[in-house]
Amino acid sequence: NGSYPNESEAGQTVVIGSSGFIGRFITEACLDSGRPTYILVRSSSNSPSKASTIKFLQDKGAIVIYGSITDQEFMEKVLREYKIEVVISAVGGESILDQLSLIEAIKNVNTVKRFVPSEFGHDIDRAEPVEPGLTMYEQKRKIRRQIEECGIPYSYICCNSIAAWPYHDNTHPTDVLPPLDRFQIYGDGTVKAYFVAGSDIGKFTVMSIDDDRTLNKTVHFQPPSNLLNMNEMASLWETKIGRVLPRVTITEQDLLQRAQEMRIPQSVVAAITHDIFINGCQINFSLDKTTDVEICSLYPNTSFRTIAECFDDSAKKISDNEKAVSKPVTASNTDIFVPTAKPEAL
Ligand code: NDP
Repeated sequence: NGSYPNESEAGQTVVIGSSGFIGRFITEACLDSGRPTYILVRSSSNSPSKASTIKFLQDKGAIVIYGSITDQEFMEKVLREYKIEVVISAVGGESILDQLSLIEAIKNVNTVKRFVPSEFGHDIDRAEPVEPGLTMYEQKRKIRRQIEECGIPYSYICCNSIAAWPYHDNTHPTDVLPPLDRFQIYGDGTVKAYFVAGSDIGKFTVMSIDDDRTLNKTVHFQPPSNLLNMNEMASLWETKIGRVLPRVTITEQDLLQRAQEMRIPQSVVAAITHDIFINGCQINFSLDKTTDVEICSLYPNTSFRTIAECFDDSAKKISDNEKAVSKPVTASNTDIFVPTAKPEAL
């Protein structure tokens, strides 16, 4: 890709949270761009699926460093010894404040040219979801203010929604295929949102980190081709599966009630779903701050994957699964996707 810097120019980069949902996309994009890429992995992490992600990234060229960002002294040593120029954090919602000690380490070492904190959603200084979404936003705001106070060079990535069916109780929507039984439509289904492929969240984040135009800016992902409402999403999916599904309305009140249940993280997702599909938080503001930049205007010649393409992938998974089901069950084909929101995917 012409927009990536030459391998020799790209600074040493450390990604935190590589074994996670968003972190994996970011790390893959870093490696694809040819950047020297370190990944910080907590040694306490012992899930087999995370271990296989780490192995996959290592095989692609990532260098593993074991440790936690909460160990400030250790992080200072890492930043110095590996001459890290770019730090990208994709820690999960429950670990946002862990980044306070990372910021302290970055400040003390003073050689990091760009820090991307864990955001990867909405502009948290603009959006105001109900609780418990608000608490997470307040934590992300606290991280922003600390970065700015310390004078650390940053980019805030506001990539909006990941391209997938937006289940209101699932933090990792691409882990679950779009519905095959019925659609749950939020409100009247007419409020639009930006759905960006995970691989593009990674790719454009990595493109932006060496770009002077994104220094100390909030980077908004608003590709016009990826702006759809739920009714349009449902119709598009119907064309991919070749049949029409019933549509059930989930009202504003339903979403607020799910949020009020305070089940974490499901209620956080319900609160943010309410903000997107009822309040229109991705589309109800204009980019009028001097700190706003829009990614398509920065890279007009690089296209985004469309939702139709992402849905093609989902339809293919379903047909592959059907083929696998029709075969006798063997050890290798027992791990079959169930196309409904799975609580264990949270
Ligand atoms: P996950 O929970 O999937 O992964 C979190 C990762 O961070 C794991 O690899 C975890 O490691 C690591 N981690 C957590 N704490 C530490 C620590 N102290 N030191 C080192 N590593 C740590 O996170 P998500 O991908 O769900 O979330 C990442 C960001 O993306 C969040 O800001 C979230 O709000 C946002 N998001 C956006 C979405 C969208 O649609 N736009 C969807 C989902 C998330 P370990 O394996 O050890 O636990």
